[in-house]
Formats: sequence, structure tokens, C-alpha cells
Amino acid sequence: MTPGQANSVRIIDAPQPFPAGAEALLRVHKIGIDGTDLEINQGAYGEAPQGSDYLISGHECLATIEEVVTNSSSIQRGDLVVPTVRRPDDCLNCQNGESDMCLTGQYKEHGIKGLHGFCSEYTVSDFNFLVKIPEEMSEIAVLLEPMSVVEKAVLQTLKIQERMIWKPKKALVLGTGPLGLLTVMLLRIKGFDVTSVATRPRNTLKAQLVQKIGGNYVNSIEQPITSLGKFDLIFEETGAASVAADAQGLLNPNGVLCLLGIYAPKQATQDIGQVFADIVLGNKVIFGSVNANIRYFRRGLEDFATIQQRFPGVLKSMFTKTVRPSDYSEAYSPTKDDIKSVIDFQR
Ligand code: BGC
Ligand code: ZN
Repeated sequence: MTPGQANSVRIIDAPQPFPAGAEALLRVHKIGIDGTDLEINQGAYGEAPQGSDYLISGHECLATIEEVVTNSSSIQRGDLVVPTVRRPDDCLNCQNGESDMCLTGQYKEHGIKGLHGFCSEYTVSDFNFLVKIPEEMSEIAVLLEPMSVVEKAVLQTLKIQERMIWKPKKALVLGTGPLGLLTVMLLRIKGFDVTSVATRPRNTLKAQLVQKIGGNYVNSIEQPITSLGKFDLIFEETGAASVAADAQGLLNPNGVLCLLGIYAPKQATQDIGQVFADIVLGNKVIFGSVNANIRYFRRGLEDFATIQQRFPGVLKSMFTKTVRPSDYSEAYSPTKDDIKSVIDFQR
């Protein structure tokens, strides 16, 4: 893609990357496409590596290690791996394993910001940012990157409320894209009573998946979210500012609203004074969460095992479109009922 230029996604012949230093050479199996990829292709986001006039896409990746220079017993040639997305700069947080909490904004992200992505037959990644995938997870592991984002959001929400006695029960998840659905799954295995909201009819796959994992699905076209009662935790994953603004009003006392979208300006008209008063008088929290460091990827793998046990087949049914690299444009034009589109280099 050419960041800043709309509909620039295309196939090119690029030189085979050469691993240097701590980098491993990876042979790519699968690349998942998400909203960020679509935004970069709309020209709205993204940054090519320095000196390059294109950005190789893809930050959700499953690959095999083809070559690794560093001697390590933990990861070896032939291992199946998922690389994390973000690479640290020299700030305090980055230098201490929390590049997802970077202070400067000078971090880089594969396929998004300043580093080529993984959507090519061969790619490279710093060896220290590879998560080893057990064979039995190979079919679903390309979902680990979005899962890591969800793990961070949920863990941070619970961690923030360690400041008080808090026994949350009711959760609301807004949006049924991959992040929304993975959030519902994670909250269900943690024992929450979960309501999931989107604008799709009840007979669509997204709505059916929610119900299959014991969530309560609401079509907000039929039932406005302001009629659903109050919640202890809310995850906003639609990216619509007006939905986020309505969600704030649905928090119980001591409740937390976690925002995960990138919101466009001037889309909501809430009275900010009233909002602030409600937050103060109820000890409420609104916070944002982005990206995830490698620890959340590892937690995601553990929780995938539990999800597969509790809800067999559900993760796999999120793959609604799998295409060959030559059919990439199909993956870049999802329908409203598509959940996860994947480019499969082994097809
Ligand atoms: C990725 C994150 C990244 C964010 C912002 C998301 O799609 O999953 O890893 O930090 O975009 O660039
Ligand atoms: Zn940093």
C-alpha cells in the first residue's frame, strides 16, 4: 500500500528480506485483515518505512521460522510462530517490555507504522517478539494478534479497579467485529453476564456466535442501547463516537468504560459537563487501550485453549473468507456479515 493514497493495495515483486542481527526469517502461512488495514488502504492511516515509497501490509500473521541466527532453545527453525506488531523505541516503557504503553509515539509497528508488514511469502521479525504456537492451535492462531488487544483491554480494566472493592457482574460489548466477538468469549470464560450489541439481525452468524457462547445479543436497530439497563464494564469496539458517548451513560457506579476505537472528530454532541458530573458522582472510569505487548499474546494462547474447550468450533467459525494472495482484493472488501478475512499463502 502507499500510505496516504486511497485504494493503493496491490501486489508487487519485492526483494526477499534478509534477516539481520536478532531477526528471524519467516515463511508466511496466513495473514488476517482488520479495520486498520482497511483504514490504511483508505489513505487515512499508516506510514511507510523510511526510504520506501510503499508499505508491505499485514500485522496479523502466522508463520514458520525458516532461519534464525541467534542461538536459543526456546524458539527454533521449523517452529510455528506469531510475531507481535509493535517494536520499541528508547523510552522507559518500551525499554521495560511495555512498548504498548510507549511514552513518545516513536515506536514502530509492522505493517502499520514505519516497518514493513508480514504479507509476503517471506518476512522478517526480531526474534524476541515471536510467540511460539503449539501445533494444535495452528488453525486459529492467526487470531492471536486481535486476541492480544482484547486481553490487554480486559486485564487493564480489571487491574484499574483493584483500587476498590469491586465485584463486577454485568458486561456490555459494543460491536461484533473480531475484537467484539473475542471480548465476549473472554468475558464469558471469566464468568461475566455479557450483552453484545451490533446492528445485524439475529439470524446472522455474528449474532448466532454470541448466543452460542451464552451472550445476550441485541440488535440496536430494534432495541436502543439506552434501554438495556446499566453495566459494570463496557467495551466500546464499534469506533463510533456517538455509540461511545451513549455507552458512558450506561455505567453503574464504580463502572469502567474501555474505548478501543479510533473516533472521528465532531460526531457526538454530549453535554461534557453532565458527563463529567456523572463520572465524579459515581467514581467511574473511562480509559483507552491500544496494541498489546508479548505478555498479552501469551495469555491469549492460554485463553484460546479454554475457549476451545468451552465453545468448540466457535473460534474457527470466525473465518468467513480465506483467499489466495492473488485474490487479496476480496479480503480488502469485506461484507457486513464477514468476520475475519484471511490471506492464505499455502493455498
Ligand atoms: C493493531 C495494533 C496497533 C493499532 C494502532 C491495530 O489494528 O492491532 O497492534 O497498535 O492498530 O496502529
Ligand atoms: Zn516508547
